[in-house]
Amino acid sequence: MNQISLKGLKIFGYTGCLPEEKQNGQYFIIDIDMFFKSIPGALTDDLNDTVNYAQVYERVETLVKESKFDLIEFLARKIGCTILDTQPLTNEVRVTVKKPDAPVDGTFDYMMTTITVKRREAVIGFGSNMGDRKEIIEEALRRISGHPDIKIKKLSSLYETEPVGYEDQDDFLNGVAVIETYLDPYDLLHFLLKTEDDLHRVRIIKNGPRTIDLDILLYEGFNEQTRELTVPHPRMYERAFVLVPLKQVGLYDGRIPDDKAVSLAGEISLN
Ligand code: ADP
Ligand code: MG
Repeated sequence: MNQISLKGLKIFGYTGCLPEEKQNGQYFIIDIDMFFKSIPGALTDDLNDTVNYAQVYERVETLVKESKFDLIEFLARKIGCTILDTQPLTNEVRVTVKKPDAPVDGTFDYMMTTITVKRREAVIGFGSNMGDRKEIIEEALRRISGHPDIKIKKLSSLYETEPVGYEDQDDFLNGVAVIETYLDPYDLLHFLLKTEDDLHRVRIIKNGPRTIDLDILLYEGFNEQTRELTVPHPRMYERAFVLVPLKQVGLYDGRIPDDKAVSLAGEISLN
């Protein structure tokens, strides 16, 4: 792994739980490690092909100086996110924040935290068979793209499918969204489940059919099966309504089962 680091940045700021900390401020010592699959500048000797240290320093300085968070953990993650937002070459940043003057009685060098933030690609599958299906899907996707740690990179079209499994219900609209996210797989899942809940609450009868289903189909570098989360989604390769949109966004190239008709049903608009 290739790495670029900025070490020992000493910046005055106002993050801290106590009112005095937010009022008077203190120095924070910050270490930043950025990781790269490759650094083109190592081959080209061109500043445009690597990270501009001055730019990173400036971003971090502004954030630390201007924010008044409670926790250095939160500050460290924000620093990581702001670096990923502005440095497309790196996809993983480790941030250490030290507080040498933490308001704790006793003798110590510093209190510190280390937080790693990663940019990862994932694919969300969505479906709806109740109410205004297109509008519900679009609202779910607006909420997803409104999350500060998620960017929608690509959307499939909408596809209409007969229900699979329990067949005595209306047809579904389905599709997939390719995203980039700083959330780890579990935090992403919790956000999607909450979004499902928020959309249900408005419209449905208790225990009735669901207005929206949001699944994590794929998550870069994550292959796990736990009680809470299985990725890749265990049934995705049997489901034409997943594979057809996945093929459309260029992430599947295999056979598509033909047990249920999947027909094109329009485009998604998030405006
Ligand atoms: P389904 O999506 O199979 O129709 P549900 O949406 O009702 O069923 O299932 C929700 C539960 O499935 C969640 O509580 C979640 O913990 C679990 N789950 C396991 N793997 C995933 C995944 N990849 N994406 C979304 N939910 C998952
Ligand atoms: Mg689900």
